[in-house]
Amino acid sequence: MDPALLKYLLLGIITLNLIFEKSINWLNVRRAHCLVPKTLEQYLSQEKVTESEEYQKTNYNFGLITGLFTYLITAIFILFGFFGDLDIWLQDFVGEPLLRSLIYIGILFIGSDLLSLPFDYYHTFKIEEKFGFNKTTPKTFFLDKLKSYLLSITVGGVLLLALFWLIHQIGSDFWWIFWAVAMVFMLAVNLFYTAWVLPIFNKLSPLEEGELKNRILAYANSVGFSLDNIFVVDGSKRSTKANAFFSGFGRRKKVVLFDTLIEQHTPEELIAVLAHEIGHYKRKHIWYNLLTSSLQVGVMLYILSLVIYNENMSLALGGNQLAIHLNLIGFTMLFSPISMLLGVGLNMMSRKHEYEADAFAKETFAGQPLAEALKTLSVKTLSHLNPHPLYVFVHYSHPPLLKRLAKLEG
Ligand SMILES: [Zn+2]
Repeated sequence: MDPALLKYLLLGIITLNLIFEKSINWLNVRRAHCLVPKTLEQYLSQEKVTESEEYQKTNYNFGLITGLFTYLITAIFILFGFFGDLDIWLQDFVGEPLLRSLIYIGILFIGSDLLSLPFDYYHTFKIEEKFGFNKTTPKTFFLDKLKSYLLSITVGGVLLLALFWLIHQIGSDFWWIFWAVAMVFMLAVNLFYTAWVLPIFNKLSPLEEGELKNRILAYANSVGFSLDNIFVVDGSKRSTKANAFFSGFGRRKKVVLFDTLIEQHTPEELIAVLAHEIGHYKRKHIWYNLLTSSLQVGVMLYILSLVIYNENMSLALGGNQLAIHLNLIGFTMLFSPISMLLGVGLNMMSRKHEYEADAFAKETFAGQPLAEALKTLSVKTLSHLNPHPLYVFVHYSHPPLLKRLAKLEG
């Protein structure tokens, strides 16, 4: 495709993307003024719903501003060929194409992150703070930023280096080789997440002996789920939002409970939440997830292999020669509508899995305590009572609360 045409195609894609995203957001936010249904009366006051709607609206306005800001900067960069200018400028200092690609992406990554830093800060300390979610101090906020920088630069740097090297050395066959590498990496993260990644950000300690632990083990045993260990993680350091998950396969499975979850729920409810998680495991959802995300990565890499050697893409972004990193940027824009479609498919599957895990908990333990736990959890995270179906279809990985409650309590 002609570079000039390609340039306007990219502009068109990011524009349509912005319009679509903001429209379904608007449709969703517009459905405010919900009345509290009977099943939630004990958990939710009308006042709280109004506050929740206020939260949604604030987030919508905030998202509109950040979205427009990002859009404008990107559009200006495309329109005036600034992406290419940065590459042409770098060529004077770094002749080696592989190294230049890495440095180029590094500059863009740090630059865009610094630009979004004031927004992140405002979101955490003004918006989340105002609605009572924030428990982070500025110190933890910046330390987390620093840690995630180091993590992205080391892990991202190594992965990117591998990708660029393969692209340079192997040619268009790189996509399936990198796919295989990425799969091994994803499996490793899944296996070792609690052991390696989580401790960087949080403190993990074994759940103390006692009634709760005994009851959890008894339930796990009753459904034939072998447990290696139960950990408590200090989630309350950052957020009041509670959570539970487990990682690992086979016999060596670890359950991780957020301390906030233990504080806010009865043992009955906690086991029901765990039963739901075990349901995911028992119904093999973990494997479906791995398989579909693997497919997603495969499709992405294949399309990347079609775009990455196209000199016209580099020219469209203002470059003066074929540059892998420029094509990578062009690719992320071209791929975003496809990525959205894939995401919709994944969300559909995920919502189905959530119903199945709920049903598992209802069958093997009880539906009511899970319903109660969901109510407490959802009231805390102030989710929309009546989200727009189109918004749910595109973005919800979990079914809306009232739909889940209807099945659990029915
Ligand atoms: Zn679930």
